[in-house]
Amino acid sequence: MPIPDSLSDTARQLWGLMNPCLLCPRQCKVNRSEDQIGFCGIADMPVVSSVGPHFGEESVLVGSGGSGTIFFAGCNLGCVFCQNFDISHHRHGRQVTIEQLAQSMLELQRYGCSNINFVTPTHVIPAIVAALELARKNGLSLPTVYNTGGYDSLETLKLLEGYVDIYMPDMKYSDSDVAKELSAAPDYPQINFAAVKEMHRQVGDLQVKDGLATRGLLVRHLVLPDNLAGSFETIDFLAEQISRATTINVMDQYRPCYKASSHPKIDRRPTLKEIVTVRRYAARKGLNVLI
Ligand code: SF4
Repeated sequence: MPIPDSLSDTARQLWGLMNPCLLCPRQCKVNRSEDQIGFCGIADMPVVSSVGPHFGEESVLVGSGGSGTIFFAGCNLGCVFCQNFDISHHRHGRQVTIEQLAQSMLELQRYGCSNINFVTPTHVIPAIVAALELARKNGLSLPTVYNTGGYDSLETLKLLEGYVDIYMPDMKYSDSDVAKELSAAPDYPQINFAAVKEMHRQVGDLQVKDGLATRGLLVRHLVLPDNLAGSFETIDFLAEQISRATTINVMDQYRPCYKASSHPKIDRRPTLKEIVTVRRYAARKGLNVLI
């Protein structure tokens, strides 16, 4: 697609980062506006798999109207245990224009949602920012949530300052070998830790008003069997290098999905003891552990 005329300089810079594509740490260098496809499997216009209020997110995002989720197909990670593999890897959905995406945001606001929650936005952020600019011109005032797998480059994140109110990154691993085996991203730990630092620099600790998040960092950490997620190192990093007031959701819902059965180490659910141990450790370090 040609670059829309109305874009701001920042949105233009983001669009430029797709041609050749250096948007994320994969650095595929394909020309996405010429329909060339890189690791994430999507050209320059997003493929949306669903739009609607979601009541299963963290309570600080839900409120009475739900979190206004927009699920994007494709992903820049290759997690073998992906729970949304039909969207992320099989890329089920419908390609949308910038105008349609802006319209979806406004519809979620009209519906009474508490925020606009971009799920897996990293690889399609240029179109999201373009649509957000258009939606804000037309009255969108809800906070935005950048709900990411956490494999985000600093250069791209720096351009998002002012567009994102709530950063909600995964912190999946702190060990490079595990990140390589389970998500095809050996540099995930260093990229992810640097990305979380930049996110926190932009928005600070999570702020909540009347039970709803308005701005800040909310970390998601999925406990894997046998501490494969490197939970304790991640928590140490947050407490020592980000902020002791960091809000973290220590998630217990891992179950073997997609190709997990071919990896014996993750072919089981974590035990209750493994989950409680991580939660207690995070609380002992002073983090704000969501329940
Ligand atoms: S956004 Fe997609 S095409 Fe671009 S570098 Fe990342 S994985 Fe590759």
